[in-house]
Amino acid sequence: MDIPLVDLKKQYFEVKNEIDRAIYRVINNSDFIGGTEVDGFEKEFAEYLDIPHCVSCGNGTDALEIILESMGIGIGCEVLVPALTWISTAEAVTRVGAKPVFVDILEDNYTLDPDDMERRITEKTKAVIPVHLYGMPCEMDKILHISKNHQLMVIEDCAQSHGAKYKGILTGCFGHAAAYSFYPGKNLGAYGDAGAIVTRDNVLAAKARMIANHGQLTKHHHIIIGRNSRMDGIQAAILRAKLPFLGRWIGFRRDLAKWYGEIIKKEINPVYSVPDYVDHAYHLFVIKSKNRKASIDRLASVNIHTAIHYPCPLPYLDVYKNKQGIRGPEYPVSLSLSKSILSLPMNDQLRSNIFNDDQIEVLRSLE
Ligand SMILES: *Cc1c(COP(=O)(O)O)cnc(C)c1O
Repeated sequence: MDIPLVDLKKQYFEVKNEIDRAIYRVINNSDFIGGTEVDGFEKEFAEYLDIPHCVSCGNGTDALEIILESMGIGIGCEVLVPALTWISTAEAVTRVGAKPVFVDILEDNYTLDPDDMERRITEKTKAVIPVHLYGMPCEMDKILHISKNHQLMVIEDCAQSHGAKYKGILTGCFGHAAAYSFYPGKNLGAYGDAGAIVTRDNVLAAKARMIANHGQLTKHHHIIIGRNSRMDGIQAAILRAKLPFLGRWIGFRRDLAKWYGEIIKKEINPVYSVPDYVDHAYHLFVIKSKNRKASIDRLASVNIHTAIHYPCPLPYLDVYKNKQGIRGPEYPVSLSLSKSILSLPMNDQLRSNIFNDDQIEVLRSLE
């Protein structure tokens, strides 16, 4: 049996009736951009998070960029970003004209190291973007405390953390604003690109909404230079159809993680370092393999697919390395983790009982 990393087709068959009806509804009402489906999704997603504002937009990267712009962060500003994340987190900062200042991550939970964060603050630092990487919530108490002392804006990157909780509260509710992505493979995914900004701040929400829709206050009343970053009606309708299943689907992810936890050696298994005050959303299940190449080959030989998220920390990518003036091992944890991390299949359709004996044996003996 082939074990894929994600299985969007199987997920579609679980909710086919709801999805097909949702898509038909949009076409039947010609509700293609904005409209009732988008309004409905914004309202339902805000209710799900128990937060006053949800502003939909084109994708998660735009959501980050629009938040930064709404906060007035741009040329001359520095923004703290974890060294190991998807490129979007830093890309959004660079695109608004600010400088991403990379922060090393914690060895155990793969998220922003609060001590290293504090060391890298200067008088130019305006914000921090904690990324709840792989669905693991960041150390929010410490990050919020440091941010408050230094008057930094906190922008949560929740692209991988739909359904993750820190001390009982859903991620996305801690910072001044949070960015969500609904890229198809995320925990809550559309059938194309889609994103959202959530916040408690009325002014920020209004500004973000304007920026995402051509700087309009009302139709044809353009008061700032905005852009076009809108959610399609079809994507909104699909997300509305899927949202009621999210809790159940994350439950299946947690069940699978628990099972992996029983099978895979403790030393390389991240399940053992998840503190009891967080609810991990397991967007990805990432082990630390001492001999990664051999592990990939052995898993492939029994048809278990793998991937690496991410093979190169951002400060060492061509696009950033010379600009940040890296000398020596400034990001030792990110650098060493990037050489050992390996993502195993994790999705809401995968159940432990489909692994055969050969596959279980390989998982058991991974190092
Ligand atoms: C996916 C992702 C994004 C960007 O989302 P898009 O919708 O693809 O633009 C941002 N940050 C992280 C950590 C992501 O994983």
